[in-house]
Amino acid sequence: MSTFLWESIAFGPIHSRRLGHSLGINLLPTDVKICSFNCLYCECGWTLEKRLTARAFYPVEIVLQAIEHKLDACKHLNVPVDSITFSGNGEPTLHPCFDQIIDGLIPLRDLYYPNAAISCLSNATQLARPEVRTALQRIENPLLKLDAGTQEMLDTINYPIVPVDIEEVTGHLKSFNGNLVIQSMFLCGEKDGVPFDNSAEPNFTQWLRRIADIHPRKVMIYSLDRETPALQLHKFDKGKLETIAEKVRAIGIPTETY
Ligand code: SF4
Repeated sequence: MSTFLWESIAFGPIHSRRLGHSLGINLLPTDVKICSFNCLYCECGWTLEKRLTARAFYPVEIVLQAIEHKLDACKHLNVPVDSITFSGNGEPTLHPCFDQIIDGLIPLRDLYYPNAAISCLSNATQLARPEVRTALQRIENPLLKLDAGTQEMLDTINYPIVPVDIEEVTGHLKSFNGNLVIQSMFLCGEKDGVPFDNSAEPNFTQWLRRIADIHPRKVMIYSLDRETPALQLHKFDKGKLETIAEKVRAIGIPTETY
C-alpha cells in the first residue's frame, strides 16, 4: 500500500468534517510512523518501528516555534482555524514532553486564535502517565480511541506492539468524568485468516457497556475511508453505522457517524 506521512510539524489547515478548519500538529518524526498500536486500518501503514523511545522527538522549543510560525502565517492571510489538532504520523502522546507542548500551545492559541479548540486524536494507550492524562484534560477536545469491547478484539484490530489492557484503558477514560469524545472505528474482515467483526457479539455489548461507563460527551463512529495496510478488511456503510449509533443514543450519549 502507499503509506501517508506528514512532512512537517505544523500542516494545513485542512478541512475536517469533524473539526472544521483544522490546523494539524505532527509531533512524530516525518520519515516513520511511531505508535503503540498497529491498527489494521491505519492510514499511515504498518508500525515498522517497534521501539517507541528509540527515535529522537522534536524538542519542545522547535515544536512551539513551528506552531507559532504557522499560526502567525495563517493569521496574516486571514485563514480560518477552528481547531489546532494533534494527529500526524502516529500517537502524539508518545512525545516525552507532550504536557509541556500543551502548556506552551495554550497561550499561543489564546494569542492568535482564541476561539479555536485544541484537539488531540489519541489512542489512549499513554493515559497511565499522569502528565499525559492531565494535559489531555486541559484541552477542549480529547478525541480518544475505543474500537473494541473485549481484549481479544483490541488485540485483533489495534494489534498493540506493547501490552495494552482494555480494563486499564477503560478506567483511565472514566477518569475524564465525561469530558471527552470517544472515536470508534467499526469494520469487519480477516486477520491471519480468522474472521472478525467488531459490530458483532460478544464484542459489541462489551463495547457499549464500556461506553456507558465512560459516558463521554460524544461518540464519533466511522468506518474505513482510505487504503489500509491489511488487505482483507471491509467497510460498513452509513446505514450500518447509524444502526450502531442508535444503540449509543439509546443510552443517552450523543453520537455522530462519518
Ligand atoms: S492508533 Fe492511530 S496512528 Fe496508531 S496505528 Fe492506530 S490508526 Fe495508526
